Amino acid sequence: MSTLLKDKLIFERSREGRRGFRPPEMDVPTKKLTELVDGKFLRQKRTNLPQVSEVDVIRHYTWLSQKNYCVDLGFYPLGSCTMKYNPKINEVTAGLPGFAALHPMQSQETAQGILELMYDLTEKLCEVTGMSWGTLQPFAGAHGEFTGMKFFTSYFKKRGEKQRTKVLVPDSAHGTNPASAHIAGFEVVEIKSNAKGMVSVEDLKHHLDENLAGIMLTNPNTLGIFEEDISEVAKLVHEAGGLLYYDGANLNAVMGKSRPGDMGFDVVHLNLHKTFSTPHGGGGPGSGAVMVNKKLEPFLPTPTVRKEGDRYYLDHDIPDSMGRISGFYGNTAVLAKAYTYILTMGSDGLQRASELAVLNANYLKEKLKGRYYLPYDQVCKHEFVFSAEKMKEEHGVTATDVAKGLLEFGIHAPTIYFPLIVHESMMIEPTETESKESLDNFIEVMNQIADLAEKDPDKLHAMPLSTPIRRVDQVQAAKNPVLRWQP
Ligand SMILES: *Cc1c(COP(=O)(O)O)cnc(C)c1O
Repeated sequence: MSTLLKDKLIFERSREGRRGFRPPEMDVPTKKLTELVDGKFLRQKRTNLPQVSEVDVIRHYTWLSQKNYCVDLGFYPLGSCTMKYNPKINEVTAGLPGFAALHPMQSQETAQGILELMYDLTEKLCEVTGMSWGTLQPFAGAHGEFTGMKFFTSYFKKRGEKQRTKVLVPDSAHGTNPASAHIAGFEVVEIKSNAKGMVSVEDLKHHLDENLAGIMLTNPNTLGIFEEDISEVAKLVHEAGGLLYYDGANLNAVMGKSRPGDMGFDVVHLNLHKTFSTPHGGGGPGSGAVMVNKKLEPFLPTPTVRKEGDRYYLDHDIPDSMGRISGFYGNTAVLAKAYTYILTMGSDGLQRASELAVLNANYLKEKLKGRYYLPYDQVCKHEFVFSAEKMKEEHGVTATDVAKGLLEFGIHAPTIYFPLIVHESMMIEPTETESKESLDNFIEVMNQIADLAEKDPDKLHAMPLSTPIRRVDQVQAAKNPVLRWQP
């Protein structure tokens, strides 16, 4: 079949001399480019840019955008990623010229608005997490984790306990946790989960020695299960002289319900781009805000925003600070969106969001667990994990096949093959923004896929058939990605 015009590359649509816009002829004397710019900065030959009309460009990019799945189009049950609907009012406030047209180098007197926003947001996030102050500088969750680990480093350095180099990470942890601890210079020690999918206190006890720097935990963990023994874990780690790090990338089950600070954590990072509703498809932009308790406040990155009377300012005078961790003050547009979200939701709204996120997850889990194997069968928080292990044994259908099947039905796939402690895992997080109708539709599709797995697995193996790209060679795509068109 011939390629439809709309499916052609923009370069293939190029025609010599075609233009989108023609400026009027110059009616003033013109200068040669070399008179204006030093010749060494000028290109030697023409760039190979496509020559197209405005219609060509608009049709090309609009069609591309239609091929792209997004949370504004449909359900996105991507566990651990909290792909909730992002209210458009967030974009309106973030786009106000008073925020969007700021320059990071302008004087603080002329940037009181954003400083107030940063100050107030920090206060609100402290309230949500039960911490005493924080930094909004980190650009992503993993960057927040790294910053959190630097609090560990500074704390032990100050106390003269340089032998504390060991950070415990459960086997269910998000992959960024061990990576961040390692990059920050710690030795990572994996601890086991017990039969209930929680940190094994028995295993933890084997690691409580003078080399312990602390532990990194996610609660609820990546199985969507609340760590029942958290108080004991906190007590044991603190008694052994260690610190507790809370990976709060995903706070969707606990906002307004329970607070990491009350559980005994010393430092928390939040992904404002997940829980606090800023769009984060395709890797950015993000904000991995980090909140700490009084014990760790002296080590905050510089500068931190403070208030004196009714004036806000950036405080660089933090004697024991870990230093800067971002060029300026973080992704301020993301901060404005998260702030808008918090203000529009209010305290009641945030609590209600947590309740609905948990209700939605349990609804899906209960409706589907007869068809999909649920290895940890208990009340979940904002997400839960199925396993396709039995489907694989009985019908040769893997988690990948289920995910690809969902694409054929026009639904985004869940997170698969994570967490690592569940074989053939499918991690599902519906979020609070989905209606019952949308959840029921997902259940219907998942049931159809389970039927196919039993009756016609080959049909599932071939899916998706109607997406712009069908099955890719996953190894090639990971090892040798072709990210850009070349002539
Ligand atoms: C998303 C996520 C992270 C990493 O956040 P990034 O912004 O992608 O760096 C860390 N931990 C958990 C539990 C997450 O869900």
